[in-house]
Amino acid sequence: MERLSDVIQVITDHKTKQQAPLCAYVYDLEGLRAHTARLSAPLPPSVRLFYAVKANADPRVLQAIQPHVAGFEVASGGELQKVRRLFADTPVIFGGPGKTDEELIAATEARVALIHVESIWELQRLHWIAAERQTTARVLLRVNLRQTAPGATLHMAGKPTQFGLDEWHIGEAIRTALALPSIDLQGFHFHAMSNHTDEQAHLAFIETCLSFVRQTEKTYGRPFSFVNVGGGVGVHYNDPDRQFRWDWFAKELHLLLRRHASPHWTVIFELGRLIAAHNGYYAAEVLDLKNNYGTYFAILRGGIHHLRLPAAWKMNHPFLIIPINEWRYPFDRPSLFGERVTLAGELCTPNDILARDVPCARLRVGDIVLFRYAGAYGWDISHHDFLSHPHPDFIYLDSSS
Ligand SMILES: *Cc1c(COP(=O)(O)O)cnc(C)c1O
Repeated sequence: MERLSDVIQVITDHKTKQQAPLCAYVYDLEGLRAHTARLSAPLPPSVRLFYAVKANADPRVLQAIQPHVAGFEVASGGELQKVRRLFADTPVIFGGPGKTDEELIAATEARVALIHVESIWELQRLHWIAAERQTTARVLLRVNLRQTAPGATLHMAGKPTQFGLDEWHIGEAIRTALALPSIDLQGFHFHAMSNHTDEQAHLAFIETCLSFVRQTEKTYGRPFSFVNVGGGVGVHYNDPDRQFRWDWFAKELHLLLRRHASPHWTVIFELGRLIAAHNGYYAAEVLDLKNNYGTYFAILRGGIHHLRLPAAWKMNHPFLIIPINEWRYPFDRPSLFGERVTLAGELCTPNDILARDVPCARLRVGDIVLFRYAGAYGWDISHHDFLSHPHPDFIYLDSSS
C-alpha cells in the first residue's frame, strides 16, 4: 500500500526550499510499518516472517520493519553488524554462499538463531568453530532443488548455480551434519528465486519444499523443525496496478500447510523485495530535454548510480511525474506534450537509462520524475560514486518521530 499523495507533498515542499535540482530517496516509514504489519497478519500461526536485509539495510528502514517481523535474514558479517548494532536480541538467520571463518565466528558469537550452510566444507568449518567454543551451531542446509517454479526474474536454484547443495550431494551433507556433534541440523533452506509474481506457482514451489522435507524425514528416520522457503515474492514493475495477491496467497497457504505440513514444522519466509519495495521512492528533477535523431530524451539529476535496478534488469522503472510550476529563467521553458520520452540519468554512459520510450502527457524541465517501488534493491545495489556526482538526499516520512 502506498501513500502517494503524502510522498508527492513532501517532495513538493522539499523543492520549494531549494533552487538546486532535486534528487532524493524518500522512505515512507509510516507506510512501511503498515505494509509490513499487513504482510504478517494473515500468515498461518506456524509461519515466521523474516526480513532479508540486503534489499534495504538503511537503519531507519530496519527499525520500522523490526516490530512487525520475527527477525532478520543477513548474508554477510556487515549486515549482521548493522542488525546487532540496532537490536541486541532480535532473532537473526545468517546465510550467504561464501562465508569466511571470521563471519562464522561472528555469527556464533552474535547468537544467531540459525545458520544456513551451503557446502560440506562449510559445514566442517562451522563444526570446528562451534566445537572450539564449546557451543552448538543450529543449522539449516541450503538445498538447490532440481525443480523449482518458473516465471521469476532471477533463479538461484533448479539449475546449476553457486548456491546451496544440489540433490546429488544433499544426502552426504545430511549424513555429515548428523555425525558432527557441534552441528544441530534443524532443517532446510530453499531460497530459489527473486521477483516471482505468480501466486499459484509460488504455492506449488512451497509444496515442493514441504515434500522434500517430508521425504528426508522418512529417509533419515528423524524429524526436522524448520522449512525455510526463502524470499522471492515479486513486484509487478511493469504493471503497478496489479500486485502480488498476498491475502489470497496467505489464505491458500493455510490450506496448503494443513494438507502438506507436519505440525512440528515451522515455516520461514525471508522476504526482501515484497517488504521493502513499495514504500521507497526515488525522485529526480528534469535537467534537460532534447530530441536526438527522432527520440526524445529527458536528462535527470540522478540516474542508475542511485537506482541501478532498471539498468540491471533492462526494464522500464515505473514512475509518475510531479509537476513543478515555478520557473525562474527569463526564457521559454522546454516542454513536451504527449510524446514518448526516454528517461536518462546524468552519467556519461549510454547505459544510464531508467525508462525507455514511455508516453508522457507533459514533461518540462524542472518537473520531478518520481520512481515508485524503489525501496528494495535501489540505493543498496547501486554504484554511488561512479562519476562523483553528489548523493541524493534521504527523506523519511515519519509522523511518530
Ligand atoms: C536475497 C535473498 C532473499 C530475499 O529475496 P527477495 O527476492 O528480496 O524476497 C532471501 N533469502 C536469501 C538467501 C537471499 O539471498
